[in-house]
Amino acid sequence: MSEVTGAITSGHLGGDLLGASAASLKERFEAAFMPNYGVPPVVLVRGEGSYVWDADGRRYLDLIAGIAVSSLGHRHPALVRAVSEQVGTLAHSSNLFVNEPEVLLAERLLSLLKVPGRVFLANSGTEANECALKMAIKYGRTTGRKYIVAAENGFHGRTLGALSLTGKASIRDQFGPFPLDVRFVPYGDADALKQAVSQDCAAVFLEPTQGEAGVVPPPAGYFTAAREICDVTGALLVLDEIQSAIGRTGHWFAHQHDGIVPDVLTLAKGLGGGMPIGACVGLGDSGTIFAKGDHGSTFGGNPVSAAAALAVLDTIERDGLLDHVSEAGRRLAEGIAAIRHPLLAGVRGRGLWLAAVLTRDAAADVQAAAQRAGFLVNAVQPGAVRIAPPLVTTLEQIGSFLEAFPAILSEVTA
Ligand SMILES: *Cc1c(COP(=O)(O)O)cnc(C)c1O
Repeated sequence: MSEVTGAITSGHLGGDLLGASAASLKERFEAAFMPNYGVPPVVLVRGEGSYVWDADGRRYLDLIAGIAVSSLGHRHPALVRAVSEQVGTLAHSSNLFVNEPEVLLAERLLSLLKVPGRVFLANSGTEANECALKMAIKYGRTTGRKYIVAAENGFHGRTLGALSLTGKASIRDQFGPFPLDVRFVPYGDADALKQAVSQDCAAVFLEPTQGEAGVVPPPAGYFTAAREICDVTGALLVLDEIQSAIGRTGHWFAHQHDGIVPDVLTLAKGLGGGMPIGACVGLGDSGTIFAKGDHGSTFGGNPVSAAAALAVLDTIERDGLLDHVSEAGRRLAEGIAAIRHPLLAGVRGRGLWLAAVLTRDAAADVQAAAQRAGFLVNAVQPGAVRIAPPLVTTLEQIGSFLEAFPAILSEVTA
């Protein structure tokens, strides 16, 4: 057996076998791609559980999971099996035909939500939000409602519809103005929300905790108030759970911590465990806002992505990962909170979805120092480091990061 065949069989196709060095790949990346991302610092070639390896053979503990996506970690046997079997059976059907995995997935999501509703399957978070936005527009037109409310610093995606809901001026303003009347309120301020939402408001778009803003949770009671404001005025409460759902906070959906039910829910990221998929769920009457012909997607409901999502949901349930996330997240948060360091102000978030908050804007330096120490974290904001590892990350692995973190911080302050 040749060396190459052996490596492929064992699933360990390393960077050396691909032939290109990290340095040359980064150079070629820069030349071939648009400059919108800059050049990322590491070339990843493979993963196993919560570890990934770069093109030079260095191992990292992956504490960012491809932006809260790789919920089962890397190369999870359940995901590999589900995707491999489905791609070898029927890779695509389009919305002209029904496939079984998409039906099973929609039914499964509704049963986890415990509320009657209807599902639309898309390919990304942004597309899930586009679906929710079109539902809000249609609902507004049929009920004489003219505007939408969203939160300052919120993130809902980069297409023009989702971008018009995104409350971060630096990424929105240069592509505006947008044709929708979207009014922004400070996140977490129930009084401001009450003031902004009238009977002319079609929908309120909110994240259960603001992810890209730096894992910023709202004050207790905010979502109870938001639900009540929407009930009184008749505005749809749309929860963008693209980053927060599928076990990330220790519940299937973050809003289940608050005991409220949204009208519309959007999902993506962790749902497919690395395969591209998004979902928009209309709960109750919102499930039938669209009529035949109102929306669609060629790839939406793709059986391979749906099979991947089913494997993710099955594994979370079978392996008790919701409880594990609560326990691991508590240990991680308590461990960070216990570190006394001049660069560390504290920790916020819930479950395996946390931000280490710094005393100054040094998150990029902390990310780089962590990388040198063998840990991948993300400078989500200038002063906040996001930690969102795979849901399967062990307590020992979390302990290894907690042990290393003070020295990582000290490398930055040195
Ligand atoms: C990532 C994210 C999106 C966009 O999802 P994409 O899959 O990148 O299109 C939208 N909303 C929230 C809250 C997100 O975290």
